Amino acid sequence: MAIMYPDFGPKDNDSPVAEPLIYSLLKEQLGDDFHVIHSLPWLSSFVMDFHESSSPIGEIDFLILHEELGILAIEAKGGKRIRHDKNGFYYLRNSDDSVARINPLHQLRRGVFAIQKWLKEKGITVKIGAAYYFPEISTESKSLPFGYFNTSTSKPISYIIDINHNSNLRDRIIEIMTFFRGYLNANKMSHGQILQLINMILPTEDYAPCWLSRINNDNYLWLRLTPEQKNCVEEILVSQRYVLNGWPGSGKTLIAVQVARALSERGEKSLVVTFNRLMAEKLEKELAEHPGCHVRNIHALCRDAAGFIKNENTFSREWMEEGAFEDLKLGIDEGFLDGYDNLIVDEGQVIREQVWDMFIGAFNTKKIVVMCDAFQVLEYEKSVDISYLESVLSVSAFTLTNSLRMPKQVCDRLRLFNKPNYAVHNPRAVEQDTLLERVVPNQQDALIRLLDQLISDNIPLSYITVLTPTYMSISTELVPQGVSVESIGRFRGLEKPIVIIVADKRMSEVEFFCGYSRATSKCIVLLDAFDVKNGAYGRLGADIYQASSAHVEQEASKSLTSQIVKTADIQTVPLFSTLPLYWSESWHAYVLMSGGHSVTRALFEAYLATHSSPKIFTWSEVSRKTLSLISEEVRELDDNMNHENYELKGCLTCGGVTPHSMIYSDDTSCYKCCHYSQVRDESFEAALHDIDMLLKTPHSYTPADRKQVDPFIYAIGGLVRFSKKYNTKAVSFSLASQSKIIGKLAIAFVILYFVISSNRGKYTVKVSEVTKEAMAWNSVLNDLTFNSWQGHVNDAFNVLQRHQLITFVGSGMRSFDSRLISEQSNT
Ligand SMILES: [Zn+2]
Repeated sequence: MAIMYPDFGPKDNDSPVAEPLIYSLLKEQLGDDFHVIHSLPWLSSFVMDFHESSSPIGEIDFLILHEELGILAIEAKGGKRIRHDKNGFYYLRNSDDSVARINPLHQLRRGVFAIQKWLKEKGITVKIGAAYYFPEISTESKSLPFGYFNTSTSKPISYIIDINHNSNLRDRIIEIMTFFRGYLNANKMSHGQILQLINMILPTEDYAPCWLSRINNDNYLWLRLTPEQKNCVEEILVSQRYVLNGWPGSGKTLIAVQVARALSERGEKSLVVTFNRLMAEKLEKELAEHPGCHVRNIHALCRDAAGFIKNENTFSREWMEEGAFEDLKLGIDEGFLDGYDNLIVDEGQVIREQVWDMFIGAFNTKKIVVMCDAFQVLEYEKSVDISYLESVLSVSAFTLTNSLRMPKQVCDRLRLFNKPNYAVHNPRAVEQDTLLERVVPNQQDALIRLLDQLISDNIPLSYITVLTPTYMSISTELVPQGVSVESIGRFRGLEKPIVIIVADKRMSEVEFFCGYSRATSKCIVLLDAFDVKNGAYGRLGADIYQASSAHVEQEASKSLTSQIVKTADIQTVPLFSTLPLYWSESWHAYVLMSGGHSVTRALFEAYLATHSSPKIFTWSEVSRKTLSLISEEVRELDDNMNHENYELKGCLTCGGVTPHSMIYSDDTSCYKCCHYSQVRDESFEAALHDIDMLLKTPHSYTPADRKQVDPFIYAIGGLVRFSKKYNTKAVSFSLASQSKIIGKLAIAFVILYFVISSNRGKYTVKVSEVTKEAMAWNSVLNDLTFNSWQGHVNDAFNVLQRHQLITFVGSGMRSFDSRLISEQSNT
């Protein structure tokens, strides 16, 4: 008995009968010196590596290997009514006597070429003969078409095996292989070489448990038509209307391709419509050899229609949005689609109702087949649902429930984003490493490292796709050429062995769903740790945080400016006891450190912006790798806080982690290198020293003195004194949300007023009271008119109300929320 791969053979319900029949004949008649590989799939993405222009779907039915006789590929064609005429072979269908053209010659040639080239790139040269097997018909005594025989040698030989050879198949195989050994001048192979070849073609975990072999193995095992899918193709071919619904990876596109091919072989013309352009390109390649199939994405179809009715004005935005569909309608009315016998629509859920009306009109008496995944609809798309399609096509949708294409781990994860209302079965084994959800401090750094790792693992670049939502762009410099970068929307319906999703916190669950389901071997998701910590990414983020909160917290802190500064040790010298201002010996710059009392810090920053001061770096608790520079320019109270932005990076010149200007990217971007000579400013520090004394020992100053101080310093003094009475976090959040400098001042006085008023047991206040009282506390505020100050106080009330810290109670009165003022709210 021959050694068969796989050893379980094709199942009987895998129509047609030819392959199971040939499988058993080869197995029984050939000895154990023959190795037979069945259904070598050219669905595999590795074929696309070097065969980009042709269809990736197809297979070599049988590949026979023998030490002495070499290698023979066999294309099997079943059917009892195969004929040949000047146009090639064709089937007669038993059911309706319709004709289906086949081209076994072409299919096999391409497969043989592909595998020879693939092996050659791995350093192995093999020569493969080709034969055609029609086990149910007799070709004897009939003249053979060109390409199925060879007369160039002394003994002419036909490449066809037919029903007459079934009983002595061994002799016929040896005859053909012997011919090719001489004809191709093929070398003998050792037993070891044969096993090596088989291991390369059919890699297993034991042979090479690396990702490359796993990907190839996944392609071999999971990207073939299942019996369920084959039945579906048969049913569609005999139905006038068909709606196919299914989970990602259940084979809808595969089925669409098979149906389109079969219809073309019958001699019928089919219009194949998809929503997105990449998908149309993929289908076009797969149907390239089927002249009856015409693939268009919906916009290209509209453009064709415009051409048909001779409208040349198709480049405006208005045309793209509405005119396109009007032209499609006009074109259809004038017979633009009359030449087609069938309509096949992939991604039917995202074709809008308006277009469905036109399609149903145009194909009223013809076949309409729709592939549909109700889950893969992005927010901005004008979609239809399954029940709409069922109703307009008067047919019940058939749902595919086997999802084979994705790893099981990925398939299971999809339920988090969208739970199907039918059972989805994925027969693959659970492999934990097929889904990696990585929480990282910096997604771009993580992406670079990840790609380096994959490349050093010998994964071909063409196996990898980086996916992001459209509103997040990835610098193409980060990604080596050969790795594709696509938006999730555009990549819908397509697939890659390894999919890397660089997630954005704005991503919807549908986008995660569409992205995850594109991976056939491994899905890697890069999530920003800080965003996960702050509750982004919906249920996914919550799930990950719950599972590993300590890790998320740790990764999140790595990107914080405060954390980086701490690690970099910039040699800070504290200058005052009440103000968080430091001198950095290593940067030669003043820094306003985060940490400590954040309300004081925010108000002091506003004070510095409105007074003459040297350059000072500042950042907040939530700044990530960035800091800003308070410049020497003096701002007015009415101005916005507006600093120059810097980024923390390593500098090659001075060798430290330093602020780099985000405006300049040349060698003047390192602050330290450009301002090495900056020294401490004595008069500035002396002025602040006085303020520090005031804040430290306010009671050694008279009330009249305190009344005269800068209003920011007054507010700081007051708020420091009552810091246990209000919610620091909520107040600093409100201060940060107000960009106008005077707006911050007004918020500070309003808070101060609330605190003092609550001490007196009064919880409801009026805008005008606060305005008046604040002007009485601090005489500098009297530089402003009452009305303009009252306007700012009113704005402050609105900000606090927006943050739900106070409530409007009627006639200009506000009461505070317990989250703002509380005896215990010191957080
Ligand atoms: Zn430098």
